[in-house]
Amino acid sequence: MADQKNHFQPLYDEKQKLLGIVISPELWMAIEKEANPIFDAALATLTGKSPETVEEVPEPMKNFEQFKEYWDFAYELPYDVHCDQCGQQTENWLEDEPRKFRLRNANLGGLLCFTCMKCNASVAKKHFKKHVAVECTPRKTS
Ligand SMILES: [Zn+2]
Repeated sequence: MADQKNHFQPLYDEKQKLLGIVISPELWMAIEKEANPIFDAALATLTGKSPETVEEVPEPMKNFEQFKEYWDFAYELPYDVHCDQCGQQTENWLEDEPRKFRLRNANLGGLLCFTCMKCNASVAKKHFKKHVAVECTPRKTS
């Protein structure tokens, strides 16, 4: 093909300082799938942040401590969590290392929200005076 178009072009400022490399949309389309993880890894090295630590929100342990403090139901606070979507379960989510379920939210109204680390489903445990209602919703696909 006698295509004169430059697929790969260095870009300089007026002082001949290299600003970056421009690649054509066609070239990008051809390599995007393979290049993306390489870019992510390289960016993590350049910025000193791994992609996981950027996205991972810490568990709201303070809220959970409060939750425990205000606990006044007749039964012991249960620590077991179960995922209806993938069957993952634990007797005590706090003791799992690494976590099988991550605490996402704890509120004094009696609600504990977890994320299943296996399938990303959301597990909500609603604590009532005499029982616990568990709701499991599959991961939102956006
Ligand atoms: Zn699951």
